[in-house]
Amino acid sequence: MNFDEMDQDHLEAYGFTHLFERCLNKKGGETRLIDNFVYNIHSHNEYSDKYYWRCAQRPCRASATTYEDLARLNAKEHNHDCLKDVD
Ligand SMILES: [Zn+2]
Repeated sequence: MNFDEMDQDHLEAYGFTHLFERCLNKKGGETRLIDNFVYNIHSHNEYSDKYYWRCAQRPCRASATTYEDLARLNAKEHNHDCLKDVD
């Protein structure tokens, strides 16, 4: 097993199993579309190179973490419906 395979297993073990789309909001800010929910950038951990995202629909408390091309959703449920259509 090479390093990349080990890394992939490690990520899946920690719940990084969702693919996402990279998007920009109307103000040009970074957003991510994960499972039809839109997230705004919250912070970036330079050490682990992970990005933290907050649900764009306030005051929803749901959030997500991304690492490279995979996303992990946190334990908080959204308090609203997901997008039906993405424009
Ligand atoms: Zn939400």
